[in-house]
Amino acid sequence: MPSLKLTLALLLLPLVGFASEADRAFERRFGDGFFDAFWAQNPGFGIGVGYYKYADRLIVPDAKERTKELKFIERWQSYLRAIPRTQLNANNQADWTILDSEFSARRWEINEARAWEWNPSVYNVAEPIAKILSTDFAPLPERLRTIGKRLKRVPAYYAAAKQNIKAPTREHTQLGIDQNKGALAVFEGELPEKIESSALSAAEKAMLIRDVDAARGAINDYVSWLQALEGRLAKEGATSFRLGAERYEQKFGYSIQTGVGARELYERALREREQLHNRMTVLTDQLWPKYFPNTAPPDDRLERIGRLIDQLSEEHVPRDQFQAEIERQIPELARWVETHGLLTLDADKPLRVRTTPAHQRGVAMASIDAPGPYDALAPTYYNVAPLEGLPADRAESLLREYNRWMLPILNIHEAIPGHYAQLVYANKAPSRIKAIFGNGAMVEGWAVYGERMMLESGYGNHAAEIWLIYSKWLLRSVSNTILDYGVHVLGMTEAQAQQLLVTQAFQSAEEASAKWRRVQLTSVQLCSYFAGYSAIYDLRERQKRTLGVGFNLKKFHERFLSFGNAPVSVIEDLMATSP
Ligand code: ZN
Ligand code: ZN
Repeated sequence: MPSLKLTLALLLLPLVGFASEADRAFERRFGDGFFDAFWAQNPGFGIGVGYYKYADRLIVPDAKERTKELKFIERWQSYLRAIPRTQLNANNQADWTILDSEFSARRWEINEARAWEWNPSVYNVAEPIAKILSTDFAPLPERLRTIGKRLKRVPAYYAAAKQNIKAPTREHTQLGIDQNKGALAVFEGELPEKIESSALSAAEKAMLIRDVDAARGAINDYVSWLQALEGRLAKEGATSFRLGAERYEQKFGYSIQTGVGARELYERALREREQLHNRMTVLTDQLWPKYFPNTAPPDDRLERIGRLIDQLSEEHVPRDQFQAEIERQIPELARWVETHGLLTLDADKPLRVRTTPAHQRGVAMASIDAPGPYDALAPTYYNVAPLEGLPADRAESLLREYNRWMLPILNIHEAIPGHYAQLVYANKAPSRIKAIFGNGAMVEGWAVYGERMMLESGYGNHAAEIWLIYSKWLLRSVSNTILDYGVHVLGMTEAQAQQLLVTQAFQSAEEASAKWRRVQLTSVQLCSYFAGYSAIYDLRERQKRTLGVGFNLKKFHERFLSFGNAPVSVIEDLMATSP
């Protein structure tokens, strides 16, 4: 017996040694050197995540540049594939897989999806310039010179855009017009003002102003060109905004990565909707006499559910209490998660609730504002949109949506144990690769999974009201999936979409038309919530069956989160194979 053990040990030793060598090779190859090359190739993306070294480079999107990008992908993917994935540790295996599919997805975007030919809204120079202007990473004169170098290439940039565009969709053409008109704001207000008030020399100022004017001219020209094009498309017909079955499955495969295909997820969403409607009917019938003691319920079940949701929505905080109520709930959620054995939280990383800063205000009611991988020391904020400035009816409709029952669900999703807690875990296993190329379905899926998990643990006291409102919320993710697949693959019409969202999912007409606009302009992303949620939920249920009494919910959560923003299918593999 001892000799057998010795033989095994001898056999294992070189393997262990080799594995760590593979890890070292991977970490050397895909460390700072790779990222520096990547940001040089993608400077705009770099600015977005706080990497400013190449901020002065505006890439002109012409054929030469696409060839260069394809060569970059080919080179780095071949380096990656030369490193045997199975000999890496779990963290690196996940990173390897994320990079490999990132490279494949980028190649597919250029060669197959070809949005650069049919989507005029991919061309816009404003955002990186606005970010350079508003972020204090260097003294203002230096940042203005950086912007100046970008400005020099703006005319060539839009000339390439006009060359590229062939058979665009009407919807993306209109978006390109709107967004480039919006881009002009940067060049008309803040930028010239900052140039004038800066410490630059008069000659430098004059040159910058000339380049700002030339950039504005190029944008205006692009907008007029698109407007003329749009007029022709209106008369002669345009490419459909619908992706079609083949491209949809491909895109879904690259971006969702839960181990479930698009068609399968769509069918699952249809079944889930039926179950939700059934559950909501039971809850409504149970609650009806309490809220409408003297009114007979309508025969139609969807109408009954809708009436009751309307009634429950009336229970909301006054508008001046909205942020205070969120601030009160966050520590309560943290305590619940700890005392119910759901997740260990890091007391050193408190979440700061604040009113959304002006430049970030938009449609989101609440969102997590986390530091990027290049400024990890910055605090994480929970941004809450201010209601004070809104017209009374708009504020009222938001307060009704985030009513007494819904507000905790929003906080669970955004903060604890949702996005914020997930992020703290992801940062414990620091991986630039996962932070930058992380999987959206995993991130959104975790937040949506967290809502149900909290309610299952008894948060909200198992009240029928909170389960009903939660079901409406989950129905939104489910309907997003049905809508996205329906529109891009099955040809769903606007009227059918309205029916799906308003009648069957209890959304306001306003929300439904915003969603119709979004589904025309994006694809697959709307599925990420339900795809991630259902995959995580299934994984948990499978683990429960496999482990029986040995299953521990807290351990499952912490282990699941320990792999960072990796795709759910990758996490599942790693949970099965690594100790
Ligand atoms: Zn009210
Ligand atoms: Zn989310």
